[in-house]
Amino acid sequence: MSQNPLTIQKDCAVGISYVLTNTEGEELDRADKSSPLHYLHGVGQIIPGLEKALEDLKLGDKKTVTIAPKEGYGEINPSLRMTFSKDNFPKETEVKPGMKFFAESEGQRIMLTVMVVRDTEVDVDGNHPLSGQTLKFEVEVTHLREATKEELAHGHIHGPGGHHH
Ligand code: ZN
Repeated sequence: MSQNPLTIQKDCAVGISYVLTNTEGEELDRADKSSPLHYLHGVGQIIPGLEKALEDLKLGDKKTVTIAPKEGYGEINPSLRMTFSKDNFPKETEVKPGMKFFAESEGQRIMLTVMVVRDTEVDVDGNHPLSGQTLKFEVEVTHLREATKEELAHGHIHGPGGHHH
């Protein structure tokens, strides 16, 4: 199934560098060319809007893409904004805004960020920090090859930037 030149399709091992900004132009995240993000294409390892935008690109291609929340980290779910009694938190920990805890909710592990700490109660938010945001990626394809049989069986890539067994 080799193509020349290879383009990004399902089951490709891809490396990208990127700068992620919000609609105000503030930088939220980046991966420089010296430490690109490596992933297996087509299996949902990255957000759907970015995966779709990368499809059919070649090595060295650059693209700027704007991604709405539903193709990114989802809309904000108000039911994930909750208030807990302080008793629910580990006694030895001084709970402060910005701290992150993991909790089980309907069989899913979610990350809770502490928003407000009061005398006896704590407000937490289980939404992804980037949910509800329109995201702009400036992305460049820095690595591209077909994944190996072993990588496909594992569902992730190996080697630099990937898993080591
Ligand atoms: Zn593996």
